[in-house]
Amino acid sequence: MRKKVVAGNWKMNTTPAEGVELLKGVAALKGDVCSCVNFIVIPPFTHLSEIVKNAKGTGIAVGAQNCAAEAKGAYTGEVSAKMIASLGVEYVILGHSERREYYGETSATLNKKMVQAYENNLIPIYCVGEKLEERENGKYFDVVRAQIEEVVFNLTPEQFSKLIIAYEPVWAIGTGKTATAEQAQEIHAFIRKVLAEKFGDAAANTVILYGGSCKPSNAAELFAKEDVDGGLIGGAALVASDFIGIGKGF
Ligand code: 13P
Repeated sequence: MRKKVVAGNWKMNTTPAEGVELLKGVAALKGDVCSCVNFIVIPPFTHLSEIVKNAKGTGIAVGAQNCAAEAKGAYTGEVSAKMIASLGVEYVILGHSERREYYGETSATLNKKMVQAYENNLIPIYCVGEKLEERENGKYFDVVRAQIEEVVFNLTPEQFSKLIIAYEPVWAIGTGKTATAEQAQEIHAFIRKVLAEKFGDAAANTVILYGGSCKPSNAAELFAKEDVDGGLIGGAALVASDFIGIGKGF
């Protein structure tokens, strides 16, 4: 039985004080959701210390949105995996499409970030997904396969056993246009098949999240699909009742 995960990527939103309020709102409503659901909040770096403190005892885990590709040194503006992990953070998003698109992150960079994450016991939430034109011209299987082969295939079986994958079609992120449950299931099953080519039966245990305009009204339909193990939520994670509403999709 795979874990059910609902993770909220806050992106570059909220002040630290607003973030703590949001976390408290989620914690207050969490009792309405099946205890089988694992919630993760993923605020900006500036909030992590306070959010970890406030999340203690709530059962809500904390993640970071990125980490540096290097361990330490003269890399102005970067935040290392070790710094993040030292706060008690458990997860890190790697390869979000916004980082690939706006900050030029390539598979080469992401391989280095993966090494840093695992060396510091952070669990990566590795994002894959195609752009609109790649969906329309039928290239999406090739794009997603390459994103997996170029990065995930470099992991050891032990590292792979911890990895979470998030499928986030770029055309669905922040657009209000969600993949249909059938579209999500098709590509999630494909991702699992590709993972199995390298890691065999272990792929049956990999948590694969859907992300892209997921909201309370469509979560249940998406999460009902066999290979959809939860969601990576953007906009709807910024309102406690919406985030919790998505959790109720299980
Ligand atoms: P939205 O839920 O706002 O579409 O964002 C999804 C996302 O990018 C989560 O990482």
